[in-house]
Amino acid sequence: MKYFSKILFAGLAVIYLISSCSNKKLVIEVDKNDLRKRFVDSLMSKMTLDEKIGQLNLPSIGFDVTGPLLSVDVEGKIRQGKVGGVFNTYTPVAVRKLQEIAVNETRLKIPLLFGYDVIHGHRTIFPIPLALASSWNMDLIERTAYAASREATADGLNWVFSPMVDIARDPRWGRVSEGAGEDVFLGSRVAEAMVKGYQGKGFDDPTRVMACIKHFALYGAAEAGRDYNTVDMSEVKMYNDYLPPYKAAVDAGAATVMSSFNDINGIPASGNHWLMTDLLRKQWGFSGFVVTDYTAINEMIDHGMGNAADVAEQAIEASVEMDMVGELFLTQLPGLLKSGRVKEESINNACRLILNAKYDLGLFQNPYKYVDETRNKTEMMSNDKLKLAKEAAIKSMVLLKNSNNVLPLNPSQKIAFIGPFIDDQRSLIGNWSGAGDWKKAISIREGLTDKFGADKFLFAKGCNIMEDEVLRKRLNDHDGRIEMDTKPEDQLLQEAIETSTKVDVIVVALGETFGMSGEAACRTNIGLLENQKRLLEALVKTGKPVVLLLMNGRPLDLSWEDKNVSAILETWFAGSEAGNAVTDLIFGDANPSGKLTMTFPRNIGQIPIYYNAKNTGRPFDASDKYTSKYLDVDNTPLYPFGYGLSYTTYEYSNLQIDKSVLRNNEKLRVTVDVKNLGSRSGEEIVQLYIHDLVGSITRPLKELKAFTNVKLDKGESKQVSFEISADDLAFYNSELKRVTEQGDFEVFVGGNSSISTKVSFKFE
Ligand code: BGC
Repeated sequence: MKYFSKILFAGLAVIYLISSCSNKKLVIEVDKNDLRKRFVDSLMSKMTLDEKIGQLNLPSIGFDVTGPLLSVDVEGKIRQGKVGGVFNTYTPVAVRKLQEIAVNETRLKIPLLFGYDVIHGHRTIFPIPLALASSWNMDLIERTAYAASREATADGLNWVFSPMVDIARDPRWGRVSEGAGEDVFLGSRVAEAMVKGYQGKGFDDPTRVMACIKHFALYGAAEAGRDYNTVDMSEVKMYNDYLPPYKAAVDAGAATVMSSFNDINGIPASGNHWLMTDLLRKQWGFSGFVVTDYTAINEMIDHGMGNAADVAEQAIEASVEMDMVGELFLTQLPGLLKSGRVKEESINNACRLILNAKYDLGLFQNPYKYVDETRNKTEMMSNDKLKLAKEAAIKSMVLLKNSNNVLPLNPSQKIAFIGPFIDDQRSLIGNWSGAGDWKKAISIREGLTDKFGADKFLFAKGCNIMEDEVLRKRLNDHDGRIEMDTKPEDQLLQEAIETSTKVDVIVVALGETFGMSGEAACRTNIGLLENQKRLLEALVKTGKPVVLLLMNGRPLDLSWEDKNVSAILETWFAGSEAGNAVTDLIFGDANPSGKLTMTFPRNIGQIPIYYNAKNTGRPFDASDKYTSKYLDVDNTPLYPFGYGLSYTTYEYSNLQIDKSVLRNNEKLRVTVDVKNLGSRSGEEIVQLYIHDLVGSITRPLKELKAFTNVKLDKGESKQVSFEISADDLAFYNSELKRVTEQGDFEVFVGGNSSISTKVSFKFE
């Protein structure tokens, strides 16, 4: 290829010319970006306008369709130079085939990008992101992203549509399963860890893949928790509570950003100049390209932003560079340019950013860099990745209740395992696990059988996953695979009750199917389905201890369950190794340590409910009618943010600070002793929150500012210390300036966000 000789030179990222000059070394750095610019300039000087517009087109070729349009004749369009990248295609064979068309059959031989929704693993599936976040373990999260990147790159991919960093405070929204939860500080740390895991130190390493921050922006704040819905939000709230994780991912070097479906204060994100140009590029300095979400430009027509030409113009002029599936750039930009409505410079700019990404990936040097049959044979679901999947699953699960220490179970007890999720495999890998093979996921029964043999425990199905025909049809229309048992509902129930009479403890696995969370999977009732509840009630009535294992992708309304069952373990959709992880946890070979990253409400009427809320002028007072509260339910949640139990208990004592006044450029040291009071070792997630008592704008009652995972043997005590600086106290004021204001602060340290032990200091 004619580019390759030039690239030999250009591919040297940084050239150091070192010469000696009177004992001093003079180092001249030739900037990598200059080399890239020279290369891209030269390439673009040969490109026709149509070829440039072609680079802005991202069709889907494969099987996953999440929107109303399907890409057609993708191979033909690649041949005509009308495609910059494709998604939903992977495997070395499929990728090579399409790359060969681009490289051998187009005039300028520009290689394609290959993207895919690698969200929580590629072939090896890790717990869903909401679960992974519950580990509060950034090293673990980074390792899962890197494992996903290794598999993805060995499968021909060079671009993943992850991480999703949308802050979400409404569990009705199905996509809470795809993010890190409700908190902006934790969400930012997870965003960084994932970008690092995918991209590492850069793309010289062929096991690293481009990340894509999504969904920019504020997609998680859709009104009423209904997908794709309007977002209307004050700028102060955006800057303080929603935007930081996107910015953290930009600062971590994420190569690309995906525009979201929603509108923001009246302007759809995909045509929002303020968002894409003023904020993302000018304020944050993002220099990569923005791809739309699936047909998001076309959807601006339904948002009421004009016709096809109008919305294409708005998108390109906002600085949105790549059009996912909709093809409005392809069809509208030539005319818009001719009529002078769109500047050639805008198209050049978009094309340049996409070519830059291809250059950075090294695709001009080797278009087949990510087509590696050898690695493809060794990377997928390798033992080390399965081990990591089990570790991640164990660390993600959250023990919500454990009265009388019914957990861990003793295998010498008589135990019945009941419920439709004991044998289910499909749901274990959750949504957005397209390349994962659910048949390879370890079910709970398999996990038990592997450890104890097939005959050790009693089993009964108890009920179908759901009886609701309409819901079942909806889910099955989208690969739900919800099958009905041949036995009638009553018989299933009777069998379960009979089985229960023969045992000491009942373990029942209930919850949602994978399709009940994720995109376009919102619910107005976030409790267990009626038929599952019927089974649970019957089991509780037996008077035996009932352990509830939950599989689900969002916070649920568990008020009844919390009152009536003995123990609850939130297992989420835990991925390829789910059954092994559950088995280890319930029999005590591992000790639960996960903590919630989204508040579990007492009922849906409390939503939105999140820990870092503000005070009102009439704070809650049970004895005073005219205070901020409900008549029918407490203000407090069922399980707060940061909450999770373990098989041991931890005592916090001796909370201290090393100074009572903190000044700029100083650090305040916060220490606390944490002791493991129980009889087994464990890991506690120690959390630090601050409260800014007086501000120029109203401030939250608590804000997470630090956390650490501490391992403690039985009886062991450790001093945990944190440092706080002025920057940790900063927030965006009403002029959107990030400031640290003088005044009084409180610091709370403990095991969840409802703690009240605190110390106070002043910032001067
Ligand atoms: C989703 C994105 C996803 C894209 C491509 C959309 O429907 O909102 O999260 O990356 O499809 O599959």
